[in-house]
Amino acid sequence: MLNRQGRPSSAGEAGTNAHPTFTGNKALAQIEPLLFEIGRHDTTGVDFDEPEEFQPRLGGLERKEPIGLPGLSEPETMRHYVRLSQQNYGIDTGLFPLGSCTMKHNARLNERMARLPGFSDVHPLQPVSTVQGALELMNELGRYLVTLTNMTAVALSPKAGAHGELCGMMAIKAAIEAKGEGATRNVVLVPDSAHGTNPATAALIGFKVKAVPAREDGSVHVEDVKKLLGPDVAAIMLTNPNTCGLFEPQVAEIAKAIHDAGAYFYCDGANFNAIVGKAKPGDLGVDAMHINLHKTFSTPHGGGGPGSGPVVLSARLAPFAPVPFVRAGKDGGFELVEQESDAAEKPFGRMTAFHGQMGMYVRAMSYMLSHGADGMKQASEDAVLNANYIRAGLSDLLSLPFGNKPCMHEVLFDDAWLKDTGVTTLDVAKAMIDEGYHPMTMYFPLVVHGAMLIEPTESESKSSLDLFIATLRDLAMSAKNGDKERFTGAPYHAPRRRLDETRAARSPILKWTPPEPVAEAAE
Ligand SMILES: *Cc1c(COP(=O)(O)O)cnc(C)c1O
Repeated sequence: MLNRQGRPSSAGEAGTNAHPTFTGNKALAQIEPLLFEIGRHDTTGVDFDEPEEFQPRLGGLERKEPIGLPGLSEPETMRHYVRLSQQNYGIDTGLFPLGSCTMKHNARLNERMARLPGFSDVHPLQPVSTVQGALELMNELGRYLVTLTNMTAVALSPKAGAHGELCGMMAIKAAIEAKGEGATRNVVLVPDSAHGTNPATAALIGFKVKAVPAREDGSVHVEDVKKLLGPDVAAIMLTNPNTCGLFEPQVAEIAKAIHDAGAYFYCDGANFNAIVGKAKPGDLGVDAMHINLHKTFSTPHGGGGPGSGPVVLSARLAPFAPVPFVRAGKDGGFELVEQESDAAEKPFGRMTAFHGQMGMYVRAMSYMLSHGADGMKQASEDAVLNANYIRAGLSDLLSLPFGNKPCMHEVLFDDAWLKDTGVTTLDVAKAMIDEGYHPMTMYFPLVVHGAMLIEPTESESKSSLDLFIATLRDLAMSAKNGDKERFTGAPYHAPRRRLDETRAARSPILKWTPPEPVAEAAE
């Protein structure tokens, strides 16, 4: 059957075949073709006057053919984008249990604050005398981050956690070079359980990466670190709480061993939400740590793009913080130090063209001010409580790789409970989509077989956690009772069924080619 776009109806592909529709839509869930497929060249939502005669000055390089942009009426344009937005599952749609990602509620208050014209309408090239309020907010945000972590300095400009890692490691590299050890200290230790960005960051700036094995209990042991330490080690990159959802019990001993060997302690702070107001990384011996504002401080995770990953630095690394940064001006206001030569210290350079993501600073500040010190501490406690509530609700059916003991903000299951069922972690994730949940993080961390990492965050109510637990219990019982079909064919109800994710990642088709014209279907 051909739908209104002259393409085979997707009804057979989406959901069961029982009642294919003419349009391919499934009730009020509308399929949405590409703009290029629905657009027409003879339509536009705006009227332009015919241009007056003019003399092109492009030396013959001007376009000779029509540009070929698709045109739609104004309501068609709006519907296209609204329908696309409805195909996205977000934290505003339902519980989003992605472990390590801290998908917490993005309060609308934050959005209102970010839209205040004094913040949203400023331009990075405006004279600083006209943006004093924005600079004060940046300064205040930095002060809060430094206080919460008990560190000395902060670099606000990095645009994501991974970018923050790069910034912190570049500060470490600069400190090592300043000591004249640049040629000899070229190894970075990274535990097996680390996020892939850690070794990637170290390798990108020329360090050799050495793996620290994880112990049976999921933690990093100080003796394993000591075995690898020597005059060639520049730093360790350690995540705490780690990606198994556990607070590293020997973190202070590890920090001491690292410092005794003349190296630096980079902490991956992606899981900071578990300890805000409870423990300060500076007290644990951390030298540099990125903070994902989109994880811990409730700014949106938009498409991996508009993030912000400030880096806090210890006194040893503070002199190397990159430009630009805000500092108190001579006449009472604030100034933005843009040039390395204007800094009293030794900035290693700069990470971004301008000062970073103003909108995210405002949202994070709004979160901090609306929660206060006690509220932020309670958020951490509730995040940990919620993860443990899920652990307790599922531990009799799902398997816990490190035993049934308390976790931090996320709970890690493995796939031992699926043994002999013919169902895999991936199948469980797909069946969760049918139940209306975004899947948990799968197959990460790599130290656990078939990992399922669940992080509910503090935002979820008890009743939403109860429904989530009940759903997973129902799925677990199905798998154990041999209802393999519920899993291996899932998702049955999503607009698209199983996609070839490997091919999509390895050979994405990024260019749209017009299809061959299709003749009208015979009456
Ligand atoms: C999210 C995350 C990162 C990277 O942060 P981005 O903001 O996504 O670049 C690094 N490490 C861990 C453990 C993470 O969870």
